[in-house]
Parts: sequence; structure tokens; C-alpha cells
Amino acid sequence: MKKRSWAEPWKIKMVEPLRMTSRAERERALAEAGYNTFLLRSEDVYIDLLTDSGTSAMSDRQWSALMLGDESYAGSRNYYDLEQAMSDVYGFAEFIPTHQGRGAEFLLSQLMIKPGQFVPGNMYFTTTRYHQELAGGQFVDVIIDEAHNPTSTFPFKGNVCLKKLQHLIDEQGTDKIAYLSLETNVNMAGGQPCSMENIKATCELCHQHDIPVFLDATRCVENAWFIKQREAGWNDRSVVEIVRDICNLTDGCTMSGKKDSLVNTGGFLAVNDIKLAEEARNLLVCHEGLHTYGGMAGRDMAAMAVGMHESIEEDHIRSRVGQVQYLGEKLMDAGIPIVQPIGGHGVYLDAAAFLDHLPRDEFPAQTLAAALYLDCGLRTMERGAVSAGRDAEGHNIFPKLELVRLTIPRRVYTQAHMDVTAESVLAVWEHRRAVTGLRMTYEPVRLRFFQAFFSPLVGCTVLPVDTSPEVVAN
Ligand SMILES: *Cc1c(COP(=O)(O)O)cnc(C)c1O
Repeated sequence: MKKRSWAEPWKIKMVEPLRMTSRAERERALAEAGYNTFLLRSEDVYIDLLTDSGTSAMSDRQWSALMLGDESYAGSRNYYDLEQAMSDVYGFAEFIPTHQGRGAEFLLSQLMIKPGQFVPGNMYFTTTRYHQELAGGQFVDVIIDEAHNPTSTFPFKGNVCLKKLQHLIDEQGTDKIAYLSLETNVNMAGGQPCSMENIKATCELCHQHDIPVFLDATRCVENAWFIKQREAGWNDRSVVEIVRDICNLTDGCTMSGKKDSLVNTGGFLAVNDIKLAEEARNLLVCHEGLHTYGGMAGRDMAAMAVGMHESIEEDHIRSRVGQVQYLGEKLMDAGIPIVQPIGGHGVYLDAAAFLDHLPRDEFPAQTLAAALYLDCGLRTMERGAVSAGRDAEGHNIFPKLELVRLTIPRRVYTQAHMDVTAESVLAVWEHRRAVTGLRMTYEPVRLRFFQAFFSPLVGCTVLPVDTSPEVVAN
């Protein structure tokens, strides 16, 4: 039978106009932003693929839920609804709301890490590692080697390398290990999933040594979808059953509701240990708010409770991941180097291969993100040396992966936007040899990628050719 098309499982009820800019406007905006896409004003952006964090479109049911916000200081009804939703989907015993994911990361790191301890994890995430370091811990990468190879097509590149983990345990002893930080659908690896088999084996190994496992459940639903699609024996299980099975193996999770849960803000910490939950609630009052709202308004908790249930609907998750695959396949068919397999929340361009004439200290990924913006106003994000920062001795870290992330917000853009995006990448690809690199002119000490400034090394732009669609159009 002929393969049939799929369409987004929603129709549009309200629209937000987009504005196309001219090449001259984009050049000015990019220079003002120090060639850093984080510093662009969103009104100067045409298609915004900077991040899928907090950028999702809410459903009519979520917008209705906002009106049912119970803004009581204590004991808001929405808190109990959200606690119930967390219990239905993730299944942990204790629920602690926070303003977003990093609020939960702060609580967990402060309570679980003693200075000098190690925190192994399957690749770092920016805020996660920052909080671990702030608490005196040291992150150790225990992801499998395939994750660092953009051309490996291994289906579960998020997996923990049990050998690396065992080695750390043997070398340092269990007392020196605070916990294992296990991320599902690993963001920095390109939205790559862990297999259920690996999650099971990893948790078993940790628990044999009394090392707790805390999940970064930010994209656990997307991971569950990949397990259903790719791992033998899971195809007839529902996504929510798989999410529950993953969570059941671990001791708790931090969660950014701004991703899977389809809200613009929110997050939580969930654990099974009642004593840890009590300590977290004590700390919560100081940093986030009372334990029945964390950092969220009642209405935000209401929208998140609805979003959490919507996130596990199979139609939704199929089209969410399907849209990312659609864009990724278009780019692959055109011969553009991307991280394979295509991930769950975005397509990652291999900037080191795309701009292989630029040395790493000219920041190929930062440069490519700037060039993509100049083409038609597409905003993407650098995930390479700028994001990786400096090591303890102050040297630039040059990670194996030098990527530009095209992150797809949930339920925001249509297939036509994906076509325009692919054409934009292709236009820069065709003129890639003309692209020149960047030099960093201002560097913040922490998480430098957010606020660093750059300037072109040659001339006054990284993309001397005008590839704008208004110029090249037929
Ligand atoms: C976004 C994210 C976080 C942090 O969550 P915020 O809501 O942005 O604070 C943590 N881990 C991963 C994997 C993320 O993608």
C-alpha cells in the first residue's frame, strides 16, 4: 500500500502574524546582537527555532484552564490537579512544583551533592551541570561514545556506557558519587533516546552500589515514543506506560514543563523518598515559594496539568516527532550533514562538517547560526564550543560535537514553515565556501553562550553573498 501523508492533529484557532525582514535589516539586527542569536530581538526573527523551551502553543483546553486559576496563596486547587497529573503520568510519590526545570535542579543538587563528590551523567546539560558545580560537585560524562559521533546511526545514542560508569565507581568508590543524573532524549546529543534495556541495566548497576538515580525527565515522553518505535517488545505498549516504566526504575526526577508538558513556564521535582521531599520543601520556601505553588501562579499549574495529559496522547507525540523527522529528512536528502538518527525535538546541523574550512577557534557553529539568520531571518542556536565554555584551567573546551540546533517548538509551525527552513539551510549550504568565521569580543564567565559578543573576522559579515529569498526568488 502507498504510504499516506499525515497532518498536524490540530487546526488553528488564533494566529500570530510573522514579519519578513530585508537583508539590510537583518545585517543591522545581527550586528547589534553581537552575532549571537540569543541576543536578537524576537520581532526581528521570521521563523524562530532557537529552542523548544517554553515556546509551545497551548491548546484551547489549556487556555480555558488558565481561567480556572486558583490564586490562593496556600492549597490552590491547581496544585492538587497538577500533583495528580504528575502521579498519573510519571508516578512518583512526592511532588514539588518549581518555577521551571532549573529550580528543581537547584533543590536536587543542593540536597544531594556534598562538595568534592562526582555526578555522573549521560552528557551534560548547561543548567544541570552549573547547579552541580554550584553545589561543589563535579560532572562526569558517562554517555556511550556513539553519542559524540554525529554520523553514527546507533538508535539509542542517549545510552549510558556501563563500562565508564563502572570505572568511575571502581576508581572513586561509591561514597564519592552523589547520584547518577540520567537524561532521557539527551538534549545536547541531539535529542537522542536511551533504550529501556539500558535504563534498566544502568539503574540496576547504580542501585547495587546504593547510588541513587535521578532522571532529567524533561523529554521523557519523546524518549518513550522512540522506545515504542525502535526497541523490540515495546511497540504495543502505550507511551504513558513506557514513561511510567522508566520513572519506576529511578528514584526521582527533575522536570522542565516547558518542553514535554506544553506550557510556557513551569517545572517540578518529584521523588519517592519522603525525607528528601521534606528537605526539598524546606529549601523551596526560601527560593521558589510555598510548597503548593513553587514558583508558579495557580493558572500556570492549571495549564500544565492539562498539557501533561495532552503530551502523552499518541496523535500528538507522533506528529511532534514526525515534524522533526520531516525537516531532518529534507535536509538529509539534500546532502546536508546532520546528526543521525534525527532526534526528537530538533535537527542538529554538523557545523564542523558544514563549514569544514573554518578552524574550531573561529566557532563554525556560531558562524553558521549567524549565516542562517542572514539568509531569511531563521533563528537557530549554537551547541558547540561556545556552549561548552572553558575547563578548570581556563582553556576553551572544543567538544567533539560542533552543532547548530534547529529546534522545533511544539504545535507552533506548519509543514510549510519546515519547507522554508529547509530551503534556507540549503541556500547557505550552496554558498558555504564564502562564509567567514567569528572572533569572540566579549565573554561572560558563566554560560557564556547566552550573552557573548562576536565580530566577523573578515569584512563586516559572515555571509558576503546575498541569498535572501526576495532576491533569489523566481
Ligand atoms: C530545558 C532543560 C532543563 C532546564 O529547564 P528550564 O525549564 O529551562 O529551567 C534541564 N534539562 C534539560 C535536558 C533541558 O532541556
